[in-house]
Amino acid sequence: MEDISLLISGFERTMQKHGALVERLAVEGQKPKFLLVSCMDSRCAPETLLNLELGTAFSHRPMGGFVHAYKEGSELDAKLTFSLLKGVKNIVLIGHTQCGAVAGLSKDVDDPHIKPWLKVANPAKQAALEKVGDADLDTLCREIERQVVILGLKNLLTYPEVSEAVESGALKLHGLFYDMHNKALLRLNTDSRTFEQLAPNENNVKYA
Ligand SMILES: [Zn+2]
Repeated sequence: MEDISLLISGFERTMQKHGALVERLAVEGQKPKFLLVSCMDSRCAPETLLNLELGTAFSHRPMGGFVHAYKEGSELDAKLTFSLLKGVKNIVLIGHTQCGAVAGLSKDVDDPHIKPWLKVANPAKQAALEKVGDADLDTLCREIERQVVILGLKNLLTYPEVSEAVESGALKLHGLFYDMHNKALLRLNTDSRTFEQLAPNENNVKYA
């Protein structure tokens, strides 16, 4: 069986299950609540991970979920502007453990096609090195992965459309973190720059 048949059968199941929603979205258009910024990693597809219906979120999935500082006319600049025009009120940046991009950054990967992009997160690597020093590579990667979220939120605020919307109260920025091994979702507290676990919590069922 061709790999592509996996996509066709998946499409058919989606139409069977969500046909009425698809019809409504086709007629009414979209009004997503979120712009989700996360890594291209196949294990972290945010709509699947967060169990979101079609029409709920725009998404931007660069390698590593890295957010570069303001570049006028960049893809991200266009997506941010369009998202705000469509009424998005929350931008959610989602980092994750076991990130291949962060592993590449930690080892100074030399591939000419990849290295220039990984440089975007160099300040996150520097911040992690200052925090964990010469710890083992795994510890360094786990810290870089968290610093990527802190850096990303900071860089989002360099986009004029974002900083203006945040200042006026029309937009909120959020930093989340997916800990894959522990099946946990954490949230960045931007005051303390620490991550607090949201799920599972003691009131939740534990995930088998
Ligand atoms: Zn990743």
